[in-house]
Amino acid sequence: MKQVVIIGCGVVGAMIAYELSELPGWQVTVVDRQMPAQGATQAALGVLMGIISQKVKGRAWAMRQSSIQRYATLLPELEAAIGTSLPWNQQGILKFCFPEDDLQRWQDLAELRHNQNWQLEIWDRAQVQTRCPQVQHPDFTAAIYSPQDYQIDPTVLTQALVKAAEQRGVHFHFDVQVEAFDPIAQTGQHCDRLHTSIGDIAADWIVIAAGLGSTPLTQSLNTAVQVGPVLGQAMQIRLDQPLGHPDFQPVITGRDIHIVPIGQQDSQQDYWVGATVEFPGNEASLQPEAAALETVWQGAITLCPDLAKATVLKTWSGLRPRPVNRPAPIVEPLAGYDNVFLATGHYRNGILLAPATAQLVRSALTAA
Ligand SMILES: Cc1cc2nc3c(=O)[nH]c(=O)nc-3n(C[C@H](O)[C@H](O)[C@H](O)COP(=O)(O)OP(=O)(O)OC[C@H]3O[C@@H](n4cnc5c(N)ncnc54)[C@H](O)[C@@H]3O)c2cc1C
Repeated sequence: MKQVVIIGCGVVGAMIAYELSELPGWQVTVVDRQMPAQGATQAALGVLMGIISQKVKGRAWAMRQSSIQRYATLLPELEAAIGTSLPWNQQGILKFCFPEDDLQRWQDLAELRHNQNWQLEIWDRAQVQTRCPQVQHPDFTAAIYSPQDYQIDPTVLTQALVKAAEQRGVHFHFDVQVEAFDPIAQTGQHCDRLHTSIGDIAADWIVIAAGLGSTPLTQSLNTAVQVGPVLGQAMQIRLDQPLGHPDFQPVITGRDIHIVPIGQQDSQQDYWVGATVEFPGNEASLQPEAAALETVWQGAITLCPDLAKATVLKTWSGLRPRPVNRPAPIVEPLAGYDNVFLATGHYRNGILLAPATAQLVRSALTAA
């Protein structure tokens, strides 16, 4: 039996655990210093901007495409496994273009996606008025509709992955911190033991999916991988009735502001609105700035004026794990080790890219 230990149970660690739990002859253990989905994952809006992304080649597009393909099978699979329906929005994403956007680039992308057997539609103002009358911004020039992109509640998704993985024999240890790697076991090439707050755990493979916690872990393996925080704030609001047509509630996005329909109760409809992107200038600015969230909120109201009637139910913030001086995400072996794999630094797209990450980890571990 091969022992794999995954450090971190955000969406990335949980997705990897579920993916690896399919492998016969592998014992998968997940360790997290908190409960599942308490890191960046708890703050995310779960918007999966895959087909609508401007990435068209290389690993960036390959990961987006395989994630969207995998989500289409994964979500029904999880629902069947845990016996509960998951809150995922299958009505797509509607992105608004403004004078500063290059519309030709979007037209080219729509054509490319069509050739790749995906769908992207370009709507003019009249089509928007008919299908999404809630969007009243005076300046938008067109809208891009991506019917095959989804949105999913990241915390509910992570909990479902944990439950389904547990059913398939994965062991989870929560409130357990990985403190270091047993120095005796560190030969420079291979690390076969982790030191945790509840004792040592033996491992044939170690997967570091610890988000912002990845840097100290890699430091203790003498190969520091720098992942820094980028703060994001968001809010949940409630309206007495849905925006626009109640039976067509896609994610609306414009100028990097997302309006995400979530639970509908009676006639009331809740939305998540966000998120800010706040780079730390110094330690103090890691605190959420009220003004930054207010700017996002006013931007959302400009897009959909009826939002001004909403009640704000709650606000929150989280820290996105962003690789320093290199593109996101980091999905590769830790340099110098033959059995430590990094699955971290997913920055703004961890929910989107978790399935593709899990597939890459699985391929790497099974090929070795
Ligand atoms: C406001 C906001 C909105 C976002 N919206 C989206 C979106 O719409 N779509 C999208 O795709 N992405 C979005 N993101 C980004 C997304 O949240 C992240 O990319 C993703 O959650 C990263 O997941 P993760 O599992 O790598 O990290 P995390 O969720 O941070 O999980 C890492 C885990 O590792 C654990 N850990 C760390 N160190 C240790 C240790 N030493 N021992 C044990 N456990 C440890 C932590 O406790 C934590 O649970 C958003 C982020 C924010 C903040």
